[in-house]
Amino acid sequence: MSFRRLLATAALVAAVPVFAASAAAQQAAQDVQVTTTRLGGNVYAVDGQGGRITALVGTEGIFLVDAQFPQVTEKIVAALRALSPAPIRLVVNTHVHGDHTGGNANFGALGATIMAQPNLRARLLKPSPGANGQVPPPAPAAALPTITYTEPLTIQMNGEEVRIVPLPPSHTDGDTVVKFVTADVLSTGDVFRSVGFPNIDRTNGGTLAGLLQSLDTFITLAGPNTKVAPGHGAVTNREALVFHRQVVVTVRDRVAAAIAQGRSVEEVVASKPTADFDERVGNAMASADRFVQQVYAELRGAR
Ligand SMILES: [Zn+2]
Repeated sequence: MSFRRLLATAALVAAVPVFAASAAAQQAAQDVQVTTTRLGGNVYAVDGQGGRITALVGTEGIFLVDAQFPQVTEKIVAALRALSPAPIRLVVNTHVHGDHTGGNANFGALGATIMAQPNLRARLLKPSPGANGQVPPPAPAAALPTITYTEPLTIQMNGEEVRIVPLPPSHTDGDTVVKFVTADVLSTGDVFRSVGFPNIDRTNGGTLAGLLQSLDTFITLAGPNTKVAPGHGAVTNREALVFHRQVVVTVRDRVAAAIAQGRSVEEVVASKPTADFDERVGNAMASADRFVQQVYAELRGAR
């Protein structure tokens, strides 16, 4: 594809109003700066608005982990163009949340193939109610994954070995982790965030049991020098994954003990079972209380 043709294709993003975000979202995106940071090999962190994108670039095409929000697609494409003129060929979604899948339709319109777990595709077609209780509309056809997988698969591209590993229900029931083997980068989506406590999105099928299994998988996939690129928060390392898992297990055991003593969820939240971790983990978006409520609900077998 010629550079001129690419520019024309990139311009298409703005010209496809059906995939455009709301006026308010467009307005908010105007101030967003999209940055790219090399993590290793040809793999970059792409930070803009929403969950972090990890990008593999090279002459064989661009491979993206996640898509951020639709209103920042143009800026993301511009930032990628500064790294490579190659077409955006593949997008893997780590999970269904809109700050990771919102740009799917735009990248699909640019010719990218979207890949994800089948559960994620099903949830794009039939979204769960949001935090405000409202059910979002189904995603447009161009946003839907056309390749789905339930087993790990490997893609060889740009001299990089990309391992795409579906996870058990953790943050949601459509989670995926991506390991760039040669570059030694692990892209975790929101199953692991380096700021705040985990969010087990039970409405979208997330589970505590699966979260712990997935963290074990991450710790296995990460080596001593692996750059761990979370969905949100600073790029970090294997040590942070081990600490994070320890936090989850400790809080789980405290909540389980409180349940065994007959405590209500309100009492358990008020007892602050995360307190000694709050400073190091960071209580982003009141994630501590939410996490305790989620753990309580799962351990009580509540639905
Ligand atoms: Zn998420």
